[in-house]
Amino acid sequence: MTTNKLLFTPGPLTTSATVKAAMLCDAGSRDAEFIAAVRDIRERLLRIGGAAPGGDYECVPMQGSGTFAIESVISSAIPRDGRMLVLVNGAYGRRIAEMARVHGIEVQTVEAPENRRISPEMVGERLGGAGGTTTGIPTHVAVVHCETTTGMVNPIAEIGEKVASAGAAYIVDAMSSFGAIPIDLAAVSADFLISSANKCIEGVPGFGFVLARRSRLIAAKGCARTLSLDLNAQWEGLEASGQFRFTPPTHALLAFHQALRELDAEGGVPGRAARYCRNRQVLAAGMEAMGFEPYLAPEDQSYIITTYRYPASPEFRFEEFYSRLSEMGFVIYPGKLSKEPCFRIGTIGRIGVEEIEGLLAAIRLIVKCRNGPNFW
Ligand SMILES: *Cc1c(COP(=O)(O)O)cnc(C)c1O
Repeated sequence: MTTNKLLFTPGPLTTSATVKAAMLCDAGSRDAEFIAAVRDIRERLLRIGGAAPGGDYECVPMQGSGTFAIESVISSAIPRDGRMLVLVNGAYGRRIAEMARVHGIEVQTVEAPENRRISPEMVGERLGGAGGTTTGIPTHVAVVHCETTTGMVNPIAEIGEKVASAGAAYIVDAMSSFGAIPIDLAAVSADFLISSANKCIEGVPGFGFVLARRSRLIAAKGCARTLSLDLNAQWEGLEASGQFRFTPPTHALLAFHQALRELDAEGGVPGRAARYCRNRQVLAAGMEAMGFEPYLAPEDQSYIITTYRYPASPEFRFEEFYSRLSEMGFVIYPGKLSKEPCFRIGTIGRIGVEEIEGLLAAIRLIVKCRNGPNFW
């Protein structure tokens, strides 16, 4: 692998040269310097969530991709007599419900179409028992913040209010938003919020992390349905020795530590949000000028990732479009909608307006070559 392509995807993302360079070091997992880096990473993540070390929240990193960290919460936090409610308006919400089923957890869903936000009122009704279920009121509610399936952002604070007033625990998959969209853990009533190294913090893949309310983390002791993803045990291990229970992704952690410094240097979450916003504006203007139609209504569209419908022409072949772009050094992403053919372009990662302009120029070239109907 010698080519360094630009990634316009939902992750892994393009990373800076300095983040990649931070991996040119073999750290021992018990090394004091490495342990200090892990501690600093955990504290910095809490602060990004508006929490202070020693306050109500704890940060627990977990080996694996983002899904592993979500599964760590689902399989660790819900007691044997617990009941989950999963709010679904895309593939990532569906995945959480599937996870619950795999672990034998009683689960129900509130579903919205993929181009609609989850309605806090519907959640409130279901938690009040007005959903007419016979299974009782849910003890745990899970939602996806930015549904990366479409780019839709769900109203996590308004939903959190309903969840908290029902006394249920609130699980937020903020995988593709944390670090890019300001989130205050306490203000959204989050009990468990999950993200990963290779999304908007702009690190490399290798682990995810959970920002958890300490009281909920303590309550999860002995609840885990797996050994390796036991969130409480992982936390206790880190608290006791500063070490991971099993081999940590040392290089990915060193890269992430550097990525966190670079987030600070960019002005923290507001600085990063401004760059991503600008990326998205330039992308949207360019794509729409070529005739590409976005899937979401403008008011629902985030600056994380944009979903475009396939052009109407029957001659459009996504695979061809994708590989022509890839040959030119630009990697986009296929769609994930359950009903409509579409593709996605991410505007996150270490890319700026110049890179977006580069991608747009490449797309223009392909479109022009095709000379086709309505642009294709
Ligand atoms: C990327 C993503 C995930 C899954 O992360 P993996 O690292 O692919 O396991 C989960 N939820 C959301 C919203 C995501 O964007």
